[in-house]
Amino acid sequence: MLESVAIGFGASGRNGGQIVNSYSRDMDVIEKQNGAETARALGAMAFEGNQIIRQRIEKYQINCDLKEGNLLPPVIRNSGKA
Ligand SMILES: Cc1cc2nc3c(=O)[nH]c(=O)nc-3n(C[C@H](O)[C@H](O)[C@H](O)COP(=O)(O)OP(=O)(O)OC[C@H]3O[C@@H](n4cnc5c(N)ncnc54)[C@H](O)[C@@H]3O)c2cc1C
Repeated sequence: MLESVAIGFGASGRNGGQIVNSYSRDMDVIEKQNGAETARALGAMAFEGNQIIRQRIEKYQINCDLKEGNLLPPVIRNSGKA
């Protein structure tokens, strides 16, 4: 493994722990920038990543307190920001 700082330094070591099936922008923006085919592939990849995480938790018996459900972040009225 190549790491310029310490293992876990990057976003992987700091993220909130939610399995996120999306990107930092809506799919219509991604489609506009990259075309429909690429957007479809990226959309499928997001869901594939979700499945890979679940398979690895099962395969390696990772004790990570996985909980099924949905995350509904609060949004400040009129700001569009979570
Ligand atoms: C605050 C925060 C919260 C997040 N929460 C979530 C969440 O809840 N759920 C979710 O799905 N996603 C979340 N994300 C996004 C997710 O964490 C990242 O998309 C993911 O960790 C990226 O993984 P990565 O391995 O590509 O990069 P990173 O985890 O960032 O790893 C890249 C590593 O490469 C190292 N590096 C960089 N350049 C070099 C170099 N030249 N030589 C050697 N090493 C180098 C960096 O130091 C870093 O440690 C969050 C991100 C942030 C910042």
